[in-house]
Formats: sequence, C-alpha cells, structure tokens
Amino acid sequence: MAGKNTKSPAIGIDLGTTYSCVAVWRHDRAEIIPNDLGNRTTPSYVAFTETERLIGSAAKNLIAMNPTNTVFDAKRLIGRRFSDPLVQSDVTLWPFKVISDPGDKPMIVVTYKGKEKKFVAEEISSMILAKMKEIAEAFLGLTVKNAVITVPAYFNDSQRQATKDAGTISGLNVLRIVVEPTAAAIAYGLDKKLGSSDEKNNVLIFDLGGGTFDVSLLTVENKVFKVKAIVGDSHLGGEDFDNRMVEHCVEEFKRKHKKDIRNNPRALRRLRTSCERAKRNLSSAAETAIGVDCLYDGIDFNYKITRAKFEELNMDLFKKCIKAVEECLHDAKMDKESIHDVVLVGGSTRIPKVQQMLQDFFNGKALCKSIHPDEAVASGAAIQAAVLTGQGNAEVQDILLCDVTPLSLGVHVRGDAMSVIIPRNTALPTKKEEHFMTCFDNQRTVLIQVFEGERAKTTDNNLLGKFELTGIQPAPRGVPKISICFDMDADGILNVSAEDQTTGNKKDMTIINDKGTLSTEEIERMLKEAELFKAEDEQHRRNVDAMNAFENYIYSLRSKIKKGKNFTLTLTISDQRKIELAIEQAKEWLESNQLAGEDEFKDKMKELENICDPIMAKMHFSGTGPKIKEVD
Ligand code: ADP
Ligand code: MG
Repeated sequence: MAGKNTKSPAIGIDLGTTYSCVAVWRHDRAEIIPNDLGNRTTPSYVAFTETERLIGSAAKNLIAMNPTNTVFDAKRLIGRRFSDPLVQSDVTLWPFKVISDPGDKPMIVVTYKGKEKKFVAEEISSMILAKMKEIAEAFLGLTVKNAVITVPAYFNDSQRQATKDAGTISGLNVLRIVVEPTAAAIAYGLDKKLGSSDEKNNVLIFDLGGGTFDVSLLTVENKVFKVKAIVGDSHLGGEDFDNRMVEHCVEEFKRKHKKDIRNNPRALRRLRTSCERAKRNLSSAAETAIGVDCLYDGIDFNYKITRAKFEELNMDLFKKCIKAVEECLHDAKMDKESIHDVVLVGGSTRIPKVQQMLQDFFNGKALCKSIHPDEAVASGAAIQAAVLTGQGNAEVQDILLCDVTPLSLGVHVRGDAMSVIIPRNTALPTKKEEHFMTCFDNQRTVLIQVFEGERAKTTDNNLLGKFELTGIQPAPRGVPKISICFDMDADGILNVSAEDQTTGNKKDMTIINDKGTLSTEEIERMLKEAELFKAEDEQHRRNVDAMNAFENYIYSLRSKIKKGKNFTLTLTISDQRKIELAIEQAKEWLESNQLAGEDEFKDKMKELENICDPIMAKMHFSGTGPKIKEVD
C-alpha cells in the first residue's frame, strides 16, 4: 500500500461498460475530473486505425467509419472464457471480431496500422484506464500512481483479478478493487452525512447503466458500509433499450421500403447512434425524431417516436428491473418498508418510466437523486482512495467497507458434490479452513477443484481452477487428512491452499491460467506492450505536429510571396521562381507523404528553409530600399 501523505493523490476510477469516470479527493470533497473535451465521463472505447490508436470520445465518434476496429464492451469479456454462453451471444452482436485462444480465452482481433493484432480484454481495459490516468494527470499537473478501481458487485474472482491486472498493465498501482454499489453508497452516505450518528440506514442502490444492471442493499451504520445482498443482470441496460429501438426502426424501414438493412453494419451503427440520442431526448421530451441521411441505398430515414412507444418497446425489460429489486429485498430478508433510501445510479436511471415504476414499487417513496447518477461511483472510489492513502479528512477517515462474496465458493467432493467452504454473502476479507480425507486406499495425490455457485452439483457450478497435491504417504482411505484453506482478500480475490496434515506438504492454488486470468509473465509482456503503444501514440502525435509545422511554413511562405507581389515586388524574378518551384515541390511531396515520420518532415522543412530563408531575408531588407528589377 502507498505511504501516507504522498504528494500525488490517489484517484478513483469507475471503469464502466460504456462510460468511465475518474475522480479525486481534493479540498475536502470528491471532485470529478473532466477530460480533454471538458466531459465528465469518457466513452470506454478504443479504436485502431491505419495510423493511430484512439481512446475515448475520439474512438466512439468515428465508429461508423471504422466499425470492425473499434472495440467497446471489453468489460463484458473481462475474466470470462470464450465458451461462456454470455460471451457467445455477445460475439454475434459486436462489429469487431473475437476469437478463442487455445486456452479458451477470448481474443479481440483488429487491424492496426495495416497489421492484424490480437488483444485480450484486460489490455483494452488497461488502455481505457491509462486514458483515465492521463486525464487525471493533466488536470492535477502531477504523475498519478495509485488508484481504486470499481467493479460490479456480481463480478466473480476471476473478473476482479482481471480488472486488477488491467490496472497493473496501465501502469497504475491498484490500491483496492471496490464494488460499484458500495462506492455509490459512500458518495451518497457522505452527501447525507450518514454514519455520523448511531442510527442504522438501509440503502438500496439501483444501478442501471449502459450494459449492466445491479441492485444492491447496503446498511450504513457508524461509517461502516455493509453489502447485504446483491442481484445483478450482466445483460440489461441502456444498450438493450437502444437495440429495441433499432429493431423497431429496421422493421419500419423494411415495411416502408421493402429493404432489410441488417446486412449493413455501417447503416446499423449509424441508426444505433441516432436511436441512442433519441432515447436520451425522450427522458425529457414526450416525442422526438430519429433521422439518418442516406441510411441505406441512398434512402433517408426519418421517424418520429413518442415516449409512450419507447416505453412499450422496453416494458418487459423495465419490469425485469423491478423484479430484481424484489429479489434483492428477498435475499436480504427485508421488506420494502425497511428501506430508508433508494439511490439512483447509472445513466439509464434518467428514464422517467423506470423512475416511476421504482417509485410505485416503493409505494410512492421519493427516490434519492441528490447524487449524480453518472458520478457517484467514481466519487465513492476517490473517497476510498483517499482513505486508503491517508489523504482524507476526519469526516471520511474511518469509513469501513464490508464487501461480501457474491457467490458461494467450495471444492468438488466425491459424487459430483459441491462442498461449500465460503458461503455466499460472507463478509470480506474472510479465511476459512476445512478438513478432507482421501477416497481410496493408498491414494498418492488429491485433485483439488475449486468452484463457485449455488448448485449442489459441481458440474452445474463454475470451475475457477484446479491443482494437485502430491506426495501423500500410502495409507488406507480416510487416514490421510488434507486441510484446505480459502483466503479471500478485501478485493474479493481468492487464494486457495491445501496441506497434507501428515507430511506438512503444502500447495497453493495457481488457478490463474486455468480460469482465464493472466499469469505474471503475461502481465509483464502486456506492460511492455502498453509502454510501446504509448510511445507509438506519442510518436504519432509528434509526426502530426511536424507535418503541421511543415505545412504552416509552406503556407506562410506562400502568403508572404503573395504580399510581396501586391506591395513591393522586391524579389528578383529568378529568386521568385526558385521559391515558387520549391514550394510547389514541397506541397507535392507533402500530399503524397502524409504518413511520413517526424524526421522526414523536419528534413524536408529544413531543405525548404535552406532554399527560401536567404531569399526571404533579402525580401525583408530590400523592402525599404529602392526596387531593383532584374531583367530576365
Ligand atoms: P456504464 O456504467 O454501464 O458504463 P452509465 O451508467 O455511464 O453506463 O450509463 C450509460 C447509459 O446511460 C447509456 O446507455 C446511455 O445511453 C444512457 N443514458 C445516458 N443519459 C440518458 C438519458 N438522459 N436518458 C436515458 N438514457 C441515458
Ligand atoms: Mg456504471
């Protein structure tokens, strides 16, 4: 952990599926840091082009032009296997290509600078994190090293570990992984000055974002934030509402023009962008227009949509949200009357119908809107970062977060049975040990298989990893005793060890490769690559600067010559020709060498300067003297 009162402050990053946000604790409060465009959230998009890599708004804005090389939704892939049914269904919807590596790890395939390049989700996320780090550094004028990063509460061990890896690859020291609802609750708790009294508050966090939906119930008491229950849907959010609108428009277009635009990714992308905008408008207006020029086969698409129609298209999804709230209350064994506050988080909670349905569910209770839905998570992360580095004030210093295990964790025992070691919703950090014995006479090795999930049969649960403990002394079955220890840290990252009680032989879990997260070597390689990309990006910027400088010089020469012509023709005709020819050649070269390097531009500029500067100098000096014309 970082030392106290280091000069550079620790930041909080909300690494969202669709948008990310960064905040810092300054002047006794969490401050949201705007990006270079002045926006307080940055699209979680990375684009690869013929010449450069773009991150954030620049990537998202150009998506229609470069759909197959613009990567988004990396958070949906992170820490998952390629064969995961959720990944399988996502892959069909994304315009970029995703394949599986031999270890069942999803790889994103893009063309970058004319070459095929493969990335794992952690690398894409690390690029977004690096961008957020850069935004913070530009704002603070300091190098930033330490950060708290948030993840959804339902993220399992490997997804959390993978997110932490992404932070490491981006050059950050990840102080802690905090779950999003807890972060939001901290921001909310601070805003309400909760915890300063002894009373206990039950807070329901309703987070409906771009791609995911999360309901969590927390208790806040004496500055202790405890997650009681979480219910999530990793596939419910603003993008689904956009999809419904897109589907509707596609049908509308088909009905009107008898043409199906589904086979045209660019048209679909443009339509989706327009639908998202319309959706946002419908949160404040009762009616809006979706308009795309030359959508398909030169035909424009113009369509009016009402808020009522939008609600009808999405009603089943909205109902699903309310059902999750019910489930969450049920899991926490609380009734709706015992909830003190319902806090709205995530961009999609701006939808009036969602707010209304939620309010109706809570029998008309006013929803808490005092904290910003887009910024609460990052603010909470920044507060937590300040606490962890000792940079917070008295108000926040003793905040304590208690996360819970989102799923039960256990090992496989005979008969395909799941033997739970850490039950679901256990407060973190936690360490539990259980004793097991061998199944056969003279058994020399035991295979330890770690699973997560709530089902009784391990085959119905999710395998996190496995390893063997060897060297057991020959003995009748049941005699050798093996103790298995599950140790989950405050980030929700699990370490498993097994020990042979007779020999003292011990082995640690190395589930890392098995479950699709990265090994230390892989992280190191990616760190190097990230550095390389950063250097490439910087070089590209320098190339462009050099090109611009060259171009500016050419134009300034031209305008000087023009002026010279109009006012005092001070150049000899041969000098003038010489300059004009040099300019013409430079321009031609520039036009056909847009992708040249910094040095080439500089060399060419020098060449031009060598020809023109002495002549131009003459022009200046002779400007006041007698005009000498040279006969050609
Ligand atoms: P995530 O955390 O999943 O990245 P956010 O919480 O940033 O997502 O929410 C992004 C989503 O919110 C997008 O789908 C966006 O279209 C939606 N959104 C933003 N503003 C509005 C609005 N005014 N009305 C409806 N949806 C909105
Ligand atoms: Mg979010």
